[in-house]
Amino acid sequence: MNILVSACLLGVNCRYDSNNTYNQKIAELISKHFLIPICPEQLGGLSTPRLPVEILKGDGSDVLSGRACVKNSCDVDLSVQFIKGSIETLNIAILYGCSVAILKAKSPSCGKGCIYDGTFSKTLRKGNGVSAQILIDNGIKVFNESEDFFPYLK
Ligand code: SF4
Repeated sequence: MNILVSACLLGVNCRYDSNNTYNQKIAELISKHFLIPICPEQLGGLSTPRLPVEILKGDGSDVLSGRACVKNSCDVDLSVQFIKGSIETLNIAILYGCSVAILKAKSPSCGKGCIYDGTFSKTLRKGNGVSAQILIDNGIKVFNESEDFFPYLK
């Protein structure tokens, strides 16, 4: 099946610090599936490297509805770029008929279940990143890399 995957999990150096979060378990899925790497933050027009970013006073759902914003550590509002990246990510998921996405945990874009709380103090809160949320809202089953997604892969 076609599976949308955070590019950093596949070894692409697209993280804010120009590193990746390669995950062998995820990468090995390529033996049975077609993996589509996406980096919503780059798709939204952000450069690499870039300053760390967190969602302030809310989660991805709040950003998509205009109730919260996404800012970098220098207080620059990047909500427009994050929303653009989420729409591009959704467009790619639709183009490839992806019903499952495996995304990087805790990210303000890709995080599913918990994200950093906007204080840049490594504190987590419940919620999804902006792209994880738009995918969920459009019926795509989203997992983070630690969850048991195997039963959902055909
Ligand atoms: S936006 Fe997603 S794919 Fe891109 S570096 Fe962050 S966690 Fe990885």
